[in-house]
Amino acid sequence: MPHPLPPGVRRCPHCGGFAAVAVDTGHRHPDGTRKTLHALCPACRGTGHAPAHSAPIPAEGSEVRV
Ligand SMILES: [Zn+2]
Repeated sequence: MPHPLPPGVRRCPHCGGFAAVAVDTGHRHPDGTRKTLHALCPACRGTGHAPAHSAPIPAEGSEVRV
């Protein structure tokens, strides 16, 4: 579940607040726990909220004009 954000802070539009996920590799540690890989949202870098000066991530192959 995404955590509630303070007023005035926007939730990341790319991940909807689910900024980090753990992916099960299918392997286990010697103690029986699962080996996982962690992946962070590239837009908010795992924070779950939109950076103040964020620009939309261009679609692959699209032209970016500055
Ligand atoms: Zn995000």
